[in-house]
Amino acid sequence: MDTLGNYINGQHIASHSGRSQSVFNPATGEAHAQVSLATADETRAAIAAAATAFQNWSQVTPLNRSRVMFKFKALLEQHRDELALLITKEHGKVFSDAQGELTRGIEVVEFACGIPHLLKGEHSMNVGRGVDSYSLMQPLGVCAGISPFNFPAMVPLWMFPIALACGNSFVMKPSEKDPTVPLKLAELLTEAGLPAGVFNVINGDKEAVDVLLTDSRVQAVSFVGSTPIAEYVYATGSAHGKRVQALGGAKNHMLVMPDADLEQVTSALMGAAYGSAGERCMAISVALCVGDEVADALIAQLQQEISTLKVGPGTGVSPEPQMGPLISRQHADKVLSYINAGVAEGATLVADGRNFVVSQHQQGYFVGPTLFDKVTPDMSIYREEIFGPVLAVVRVPSFAEGLALINQHEFGNGTAIFTGSGEAAREFTAQVQVGMVGVNVPIPVPMAFHSFGGWKRSVFGPLNMHGPDGVRFYTRMKTITARWPNGQAMGNQFSMPTMK
Ligand code: NAD
Repeated sequence: MDTLGNYINGQHIASHSGRSQSVFNPATGEAHAQVSLATADETRAAIAAAATAFQNWSQVTPLNRSRVMFKFKALLEQHRDELALLITKEHGKVFSDAQGELTRGIEVVEFACGIPHLLKGEHSMNVGRGVDSYSLMQPLGVCAGISPFNFPAMVPLWMFPIALACGNSFVMKPSEKDPTVPLKLAELLTEAGLPAGVFNVINGDKEAVDVLLTDSRVQAVSFVGSTPIAEYVYATGSAHGKRVQALGGAKNHMLVMPDADLEQVTSALMGAAYGSAGERCMAISVALCVGDEVADALIAQLQQEISTLKVGPGTGVSPEPQMGPLISRQHADKVLSYINAGVAEGATLVADGRNFVVSQHQQGYFVGPTLFDKVTPDMSIYREEIFGPVLAVVRVPSFAEGLALINQHEFGNGTAIFTGSGEAAREFTAQVQVGMVGVNVPIPVPMAFHSFGGWKRSVFGPLNMHGPDGVRFYTRMKTITARWPNGQAMGNQFSMPTMK
């Protein structure tokens, strides 16, 4: 069985921590590797490598940095199927979904390829007579990334391509549950010509994270994961003087208006609630139906679709299943306990994903698609993020009450309205307290050249991932105000300088 260690200074380095955990294939429940959990000293060694490499990398021209990104993109394309298979093997999502994840990650690399343009800054001539002003966007130094299990390729790719293209060096701390893909990305960066030490991977847990949050050589930390850890990362990193962007959990609502096309709503909800077994921060986990008529009709259609939904391993079965297993036995048990809680709290269980067995995969971490009706806002299955294939239908009497519920919820990551009314859609997009909003689009994940992030307790820190915010996050702006001496004496000036 392989033991996975760290990637420091352009090579794989075995860890001597003595602490490790198994890496499982969630479809079979079998462990295929061990991942060592790095020590504080090993994490410091990665930071040291990144700090040294920064000296030269930050001086490489943006054009040449972007050429490394172009080569990296070509290698990602070349290894696309191999990477997608690894995602499926360790995360469990079905192969076509893993390919989709990879595509969304590659799009950030494509964005980073445009870095010479993105770093042009601003220039104003003659802000005063003979005085010009311009800005420089300079790299920060060593940046760190900490990512969750549910997108082992895409979320790291939200972070480091832009950081590196801006001239920073990087230490990536991926999820210990699916660590193989990030190590593979490190190898491909080296093959693309990235100098040793510019990108490093540390596999580990809290011990490694705490070093990244407190070591004075780390200038910025990007985090994606659950809200309690995001809050901890934000508070600790900020207290140690770092720039931090920390994205947390979600409970995404879809508001279904009486004039919505119910067939469209049904297929949108099936994909958004059950795709990737609900383990997406942009999954829809609550359908707010305006009126009983809409709710009854929607439930009937969803019930029909759920009865034919194919659940199984992400590879090796034809035709491909639509939904795979959950990440771990522990997580599957947590999702099952939420289903039990929903029943105990009085919601109507329309489709029951408990006791769900996939033939020849009895040890896999499968939970079947689950649908609750008549869920109310006081129930734990409404308030808390389940992160599994569980959809809750909440009946509301009006648009206003649906909107109010969304706005009162702790989380504000994504949301959607399904309607034929431009007026309702416009009001919704203007008033909703959520960072990413879909109009007849169930999973409104912004493209790489826009920025990704929620509101409320779904995010800590002002700058979102990738797009323009990504470039701002990984650079420090310096503004120059310059006058070239023209021989005229300036004289002493004691009042606040103003431009003449
Ligand atoms: P998690 O918070 O358990 O782990 C995320 C990272 O933090 C991992 O690298 C992990 O090793 C590290 N970590 C865990 N516990 C820690 C601790 N006590 N101290 C320091 N570091 C610690 O999240 P997860 O279970 O891997 O991922 C699922 C969560 O991520 C869900 O809540 C989901 O909504 C969220 N998520 C959010 C987004 C977003 O964009 N907002 C995207 C993807 C996932």
